[in-house]
Amino acid sequence: MTEARKLYVKSFGCQMNVYDAQRMADTLAPEGYVETTTADDADLIILNTCHIREKAAEKVYSELGRVRRLKEAAAADGRRVTIAVAGCVAQAEGEEIIRRAPAVDLVVGPQSYHRLPDLLARAAHGIKAIDTEFPVDDKFNHLAAPSTAAMRARGISAFVTVQEGCDKFCTFCVVPYTRGMETSRPVSQIIAEIERLADAGVREVTLIGQNVNAYHGAGADGRPQSLARLLARVAEIPGIERLRYTTSHPRDMDEDLVAAHRDLPQLMPQLHLPVQSGSDRVLAAMNRRHSRADYLGLVERLHYARPDLALTSDFIVGFPGETEDDFAATLSLIGEVGFSGAYSFKYSPRPGTPGADMGDQVAEDIKSERLARLQDVIDDNQAAFNRGCVGRTFDVLFERESRYPGRLTGRSPYLQPVQVTAPSSLIGTIAAVIVTEMFGNSLLGVLTQNPEQQPAQQPAMAGAGA
Ligand code: SF4
Repeated sequence: MTEARKLYVKSFGCQMNVYDAQRMADTLAPEGYVETTTADDADLIILNTCHIREKAAEKVYSELGRVRRLKEAAAADGRRVTIAVAGCVAQAEGEEIIRRAPAVDLVVGPQSYHRLPDLLARAAHGIKAIDTEFPVDDKFNHLAAPSTAAMRARGISAFVTVQEGCDKFCTFCVVPYTRGMETSRPVSQIIAEIERLADAGVREVTLIGQNVNAYHGAGADGRPQSLARLLARVAEIPGIERLRYTTSHPRDMDEDLVAAHRDLPQLMPQLHLPVQSGSDRVLAAMNRRHSRADYLGLVERLHYARPDLALTSDFIVGFPGETEDDFAATLSLIGEVGFSGAYSFKYSPRPGTPGADMGDQVAEDIKSERLARLQDVIDDNQAAFNRGCVGRTFDVLFERESRYPGRLTGRSPYLQPVQVTAPSSLIGTIAAVIVTEMFGNSLLGVLTQNPEQQPAQQPAMAGAGA
C-alpha cells in the first residue's frame, strides 16, 4: 500500500470556494491524499483563490512566496512538495502565475478540478500544467463522489453547488470572466448528493451558485427546472429540515421562487439579495438591469409571501460617477428595507471589467468616508434586528459544542449563532429556544423544555458537529 500523501487546501473568498475545496479533496482521496490542517507537512498545497477582493492577485503572489519557502525547506530534507493554484485568480492569470512564481507546479481553473489527478501526474514528471479552459463537459460528472467519512466531516450544515457562472455582466464584476457563463447541475445529481448528505447527518443544506436563482438544471424529463422546483424537490428528502440558497440576483427572483418562501416550511425566513446601490443612475451604470423601484417591489412581494422574512444585502460605495445624492439614495433604500445585515465594500476597479475604464472614478477618501457612514447605518439596522429577537422563541439547529463548557452553539432561522446550555445529545437536532440576551451578533437563550422532554428526533451521525 502506498503511504498516504498530505493535502493542504487554503481557500479564500466565497462559499463556492469552500465547496470546491471539499470536492477537490474528494477527487484526490482515491489518489491517496488525506487532508491536513497545516501547510507545513503537506505534500500538495493548493491555494484556492478568489478574485473579488482588492489586489487579490498580489495577495496570492505574496502567499506563494511563503509556500515556496516551505517547498525549498522540504526539498532540503529530500521531500517533494507540489504547489497548485486553483480558483478565480488561476483562471484570470493563467500562465502568468508560473512566469512570476516558478515554484508553482500547476494552475487549474474552477471548471477543471476533475482533471487534477492528470495534472498532478504531469507535474510529477516535471511538466508545468495549466488548465484554465471552460470545458464543454460537465466537471460535476467527473468529480469523485465524497466518501461517507468526508460527508460526515461536513457536519450538520452543508453547502451544495447547484449552479456556476454568470451571464449578467455587472460592470464591476469579474465573475463572468473567471467562472464563465451560467451552467446548472441536473436535478438528479443534486438530489443524489443531498440524499447522501442527509444519510451522513446533514440537517441543513444551502444551495449555492454565483447566481443561484438563475438555476435551470435538467429535470427527469430533460426539461429545465427552476430553483423553486428544485427547492421543493430537496424539501422532500427525509432528514433535510432546513433549506437556504445564495447568492441571488433580483432579476432572477421569479414569482415561483417568491411563492416558495410562502409554501416551503423548510425554507428559512432569511434571504441574501444583493442590491449594490439605491440610485437608479448608479444601478444603470453598474448594468444591474433592475431599478430601485423593481427591488423595493420585489421586497414587498417577498414580505407578503413570508412576513417574517429578513433580508441581507451587498453594497458597493463609490462606483464611478456616484454623487452624494446617489449615495443618499442608497442610505434611504437601507432605511426603507431595514436589512438585518449586509456586506459593504468600496468600489475597486477590476482589470478587464467595464467599470475599470469608466472616467469619473470617485476619490479614495470620499469612498472611505461613505463606506464608514453606510456601515454605521447597517450596524444600527443589524443591532436593532438582533435586539428585536430578545424575548422571542426560535427553533435552533444545534451544530456543535460551544467553547463555553456545558453550552452548545446553534443557528437561529436567521443564521445568528445562538449559545444555549444544553447536552451534546442535542447536536444535530432542532429545539425551541427563548432568546434571553444578545452579544454583538450572537444570541444567548434557554431551552423551552427540559432536554429529557425534548421530542425524539433523528440523532446526528458520529463525527458531525465535533
Ligand atoms: S450578477 Fe453577481 S456574479 Fe453576476 S456579474 Fe453581477 S455581481 Fe457578478
